[in-house]
Amino acid sequence: MVDESSSEQTGTSAQPTDLAVVPTVVKARAPDKMAGDKIQCDACPVLCQISEGRLGACDRWGNVGGVLQRMDPVVIMKRPGVELVPASTADWDGRWVREDAPVFVSGVASGTTYPDYKPAPFIVASRQRGVDMVTVVTEGIFSYCSFKVKIDTDRYLGPEQATVRHQGEAVGHVTTIEYGSQFLSLGGVHHLTGGSKREGRITCELMEKLGNQQAVDLEIEGGAKLTVQAGKPPVVNGVEEQRMRVGCGSATIGIFAKQWFGHVDEVVVVDDHITGVLSEHQAGRCLDMLPSGIRLRGRKSTPGRYFQVANPGTGWGGTDIVDPLSIIEGWDPKVARPGLRLLMVSTTGEHAQWFELDQSLVPRPAPMPAVIDKVVQRIGENCEPALATVLFLGGAGGSLRAGVTENPILLTRSIKDLLTRVTCGGAPAYIWPGGGITVMVDVTRMPANSFGSVPTPAIVAPIEFTLKLADYQRLGGHMDRVRRLEDVWSSDPHQIAEWISDNPWPLESLR
Ligand code: SF4
Repeated sequence: MVDESSSEQTGTSAQPTDLAVVPTVVKARAPDKMAGDKIQCDACPVLCQISEGRLGACDRWGNVGGVLQRMDPVVIMKRPGVELVPASTADWDGRWVREDAPVFVSGVASGTTYPDYKPAPFIVASRQRGVDMVTVVTEGIFSYCSFKVKIDTDRYLGPEQATVRHQGEAVGHVTTIEYGSQFLSLGGVHHLTGGSKREGRITCELMEKLGNQQAVDLEIEGGAKLTVQAGKPPVVNGVEEQRMRVGCGSATIGIFAKQWFGHVDEVVVVDDHITGVLSEHQAGRCLDMLPSGIRLRGRKSTPGRYFQVANPGTGWGGTDIVDPLSIIEGWDPKVARPGLRLLMVSTTGEHAQWFELDQSLVPRPAPMPAVIDKVVQRIGENCEPALATVLFLGGAGGSLRAGVTENPILLTRSIKDLLTRVTCGGAPAYIWPGGGITVMVDVTRMPANSFGSVPTPAIVAPIEFTLKLADYQRLGGHMDRVRRLEDVWSSDPHQIAEWISDNPWPLESLR
């Protein structure tokens, strides 16, 4: 339990601990040569010397009347559906001690402590379902971090491993193609620290913008020009992507075979990776379809599934073709027959054409029957809207932990044991298995402008650790720095942000 009497007197709820005497945290000695009207910011390794009325290099801290100040007030998020103060404020004693916490102090604009052994800027006690909880809140400085970008498109963006550039600098690379999406890895310590000074700066600027859900322009070597923004459709070579494909060519055959059956003699679903041919495919075989005699270019994988029918591109099904017939090598005259009905369609249904074989077994364009057109429309209907998704990936398993506890491995273990919940600006963070505290979070679930940067260069991102107060004490937390939520609310400048509705409330226990 939090000791209520002590907080009344001191504004904090510092508790006696069984830890050794905690040394006083002192401000770093100002450099001898620093002008008298300046103050030194010690919130990151840059150690800016800031004149009165000016900001430091990151624009986050300033000298206000000779006092170092975090320029944006900390973001406190309001639990949905709660009143922040009782209906009658006259009766309010300024406490929420006996209630479930109605607000959550986020790491956004909470400030940073450097060097890392200093306790985190906010260590906040509150209650949830009768249990004393604590949330350790900070803005982490991440040198080891990147953004993983998922771009829903089957258009060719560039070769795997190709360099991705922003303002001419290498900022990342193309990674694997997944089902209907192309992934990019942007940022990371290699580009932040391993190249030229400009490369590090441009990478850092790009990462901050991506995290803050702004649009960024990218160029892939040997590939496309892109505009990417979290939660928005990607723009590929100036064209806004609309549809995420329903599946690969083979999957599209599998989904729609029955709906085509009886109305068509052959269907080819054109796809850069796996082009499907209905009559040969298991889906067609199960429907007792007759062979059509079609001969397709590319490499046959398994019946009705062809690889490499064309080069990758931005045409039909992520290939470079504009004429679908160009992937047909010919027809077996012993099997094919005049009048044979052929549908060629892409994996999004955006491209579709109907043909009938003439007397010489040459496909001739013809009007598409309504019953076939309906299925083509249904392919489109089954495509989800194409989006760019941006996930922040950061390593919090380093010195940042010292701001939480004097014995950092215990924090790591308590996260793995599901005793501590990790959030970033209140958004749930996925913790990668294995060593360290490698967090991954969807930036659209975080408050606006959650990310900052410092010119080391590194990214600043909010992070919060929430656990039971008793567990915090057990893992060697900075108990002398625990403050009540009401104290933060009443004495610290703050801005209120609405809770992002899909996010679970972080104070609910993990198990
Ligand atoms: S870059 Fe920002 S955080 Fe770092 S010392 Fe300068 S003002 Fe402080």
